[in-house]
Amino acid sequence: MVCIDLGQERVYYTPLFGFDKSKIKRDHPIISLLKGFIKTIKKKKTSPKNKLAPLIIPRAEHTISRSAIHRNALKVLYRLNEAGFDAYLVGGCVRDLLLGYTPKDFDIATNARPEEIRRLFKNCRLIGKRFRLAHILFGQDVIEVATFRTHHENAQEAQGKSRHGMIVRDNVYGTIEDDVIRRDFRINALYYNIADYSIVDFVGGMQDIKEKMLHLIGDPAKRFHEDPVRLLRAVRFLAKLNINITKETEEPLMTLSHLLNNVSAARLFQEVLKIFQSGATLATIHLLQKYQLMSKLFIYSTASKTLLDVALSNTDKRIHEGKTASPAFLFTVILWHSVLEQVTQIEQSGMPTYLAIEKALQTILKQQTERLTIPRLMQLSIREICLLQHRLTYRRGKHPYRLLEHPRFRAGYDLLLLRAQTGEPVQELATWWQQFYSSTPEQREKMLHEIQRAAQPKKRKNRSKKSNVAYTQ
Ligand code: ATP
Ligand code: MG
Repeated sequence: MVCIDLGQERVYYTPLFGFDKSKIKRDHPIISLLKGFIKTIKKKKTSPKNKLAPLIIPRAEHTISRSAIHRNALKVLYRLNEAGFDAYLVGGCVRDLLLGYTPKDFDIATNARPEEIRRLFKNCRLIGKRFRLAHILFGQDVIEVATFRTHHENAQEAQGKSRHGMIVRDNVYGTIEDDVIRRDFRINALYYNIADYSIVDFVGGMQDIKEKMLHLIGDPAKRFHEDPVRLLRAVRFLAKLNINITKETEEPLMTLSHLLNNVSAARLFQEVLKIFQSGATLATIHLLQKYQLMSKLFIYSTASKTLLDVALSNTDKRIHEGKTASPAFLFTVILWHSVLEQVTQIEQSGMPTYLAIEKALQTILKQQTERLTIPRLMQLSIREICLLQHRLTYRRGKHPYRLLEHPRFRAGYDLLLLRAQTGEPVQELATWWQQFYSSTPEQREKMLHEIQRAAQPKKRKNRSKKSNVAYTQ
């Protein structure tokens, strides 16, 4: 083994032929040659970093005002800065502020290490195994502070990749130059510097903001392979921010949907939740269809299209009014026609409707949860909303009152109205429930009396007929 001292670093190598160690001198021609060679390699390895000269946009030339930044985020930024660390707002919040949207959360990036951050803040909790993050807690509000991370090419030994080229470990600290190139899109890689209120742009993000363009950093196909969730993020940002996509980012997006097969079902569920809360769910679902990504996420029958369109535009309206959207309800809407198709098949074997729905749900939910993990409680809600479609057909005796008390009544009722609105033959039932729901106790009694009277002779006439799926009235 030969050791070459290069100032701060030592390089070890084993010569192929028998060198006599004692005879090697530091100024030996082979050593000089090797030194030169190693220096060239080192230079090549570090040169992309040195090439990254950022564009600094001073405060006077951009629109981010401190009054638009959450005061807790400002507190954290100032404290880090006063302690001598670099501190930046980064990611979605900078992007949203520049595009005129209200950010969901304010993320901070710094050169302070997690332990150093903890020492600065009493209200700090370090989380994460894969990569340590600091959470600074202000009551319910959490500000996330991340130490600059490095890109995989700069840290091969600390970073793991799966067989499919996906990054599975990502836990090495780096500089801001390293941090910027591991981010996904150029508009997500802008840094707001608390030291002078400027924006630091290493990758052309400001230009994309101006041109309203989505552009992956680096080679798009490679970046999608590294983390296929970026396919879904691309679609979500396109829909939510109402922007366009560059040709070179869109081309691989068209063809790489299969990569989502390698993403864990739990992570896909998290991404779907973000889509449901985005306020642009309808547009996102349309893009998922356009880019052949829909079937990677959902068991979806094209018969659901109209139902989905109406339901999702209602959902987006609710989100914009500051209300919430129930993921269980949205999953039910997406799955509904697949369930119904199964029910029709199962009923042909003579199984009663209620049991047929149960059986169809078992199959569909099993297939669905193989794609993305739906928590058990949410699965129960989906099941109840579907079963309610049948239970709402029982309108005699005390049954309607009991249904009004059912914890999922509102969701079941909403689905029934949507089904009627989108052409399923349940209009009479939906109108009846609308009326019953908004009536006084006396009116309700009258309605029940009428239904009882109307049903008697009808039932005798149709005794030999089999009930028909959830359409039974
Ligand atoms: P929003 O919070 O509005 O959904 P966001 O861009 O803030 O959008 P986050 O998931 O909060 O999304 O991520 C914060 C930042 O972390 C992103 O802006 C991006 O810079 C980086 N990031 C997140 N996910 C990835 C990823 N899969 N690949 C590369 N960078 C990512
Ligand atoms: Mg965010």
